[in-house]
Amino acid sequence: MAHVFEPAPTGRAKCRGCGKLIPKGEQRFGERMPNPFGDGEMTLLFHPLCAAYRRPESMLQALAETSDGVAARETLERAARASAAHRRLSRVDGAQRAPNARAKCRSCREPIPSGSWRIRLAFFEAGRFLPGGFVHLDCHRTYFEGHDALASVVHFSPDLSDQERDELTRAWGAAIARAPGS
Ligand SMILES: [Zn+2]
Ligand SMILES: [Zn+2]
Repeated sequence: MAHVFEPAPTGRAKCRGCGKLIPKGEQRFGERMPNPFGDGEMTLLFHPLCAAYRRPESMLQALAETSDGVAARETLERAARASAAHRRLSRVDGAQRAPNARAKCRSCREPIPSGSWRIRLAFFEAGRFLPGGFVHLDCHRTYFEGHDALASVVHFSPDLSDQERDELTRAWGAAIARAPGS
């Protein structure tokens, strides 16, 4: 069965990408995949933009197979193409200030200081996103090999306040300015 765009029949389903509810009547994306735990297929539900960032190949395939009725098609296509350009971009799960200094950066292997910004990663496995550690904000250029991940980092940080989002964006810009070769 093909992936599907459809209006959400209820407001009770959560998006696999961001964990938030998909409002009733809003367009949702259903990714069809073989059931990893048994026979048949399963459907993973997403906000379309969440799927574009995190499941870019499925989104691009669905856009190619769906001729009309897709809201914000250009936005979805742009996000999916950006995310598909580098495998690691689809791992972005948002950003937060480190609550302690226990985590090591997956890029440089150094500890991430308490209170500093870190990028959360998640890996897709058997139909689920599993926590995949963290990267220093300063290491994002290295980890994502120069691809810009700020839009999806902000997208998957819905619980930040406006002020925190501004701080994150400024810290991101400062990290780029400090990076070698910029
Ligand atoms: Zn979502
Ligand atoms: Zn690092």
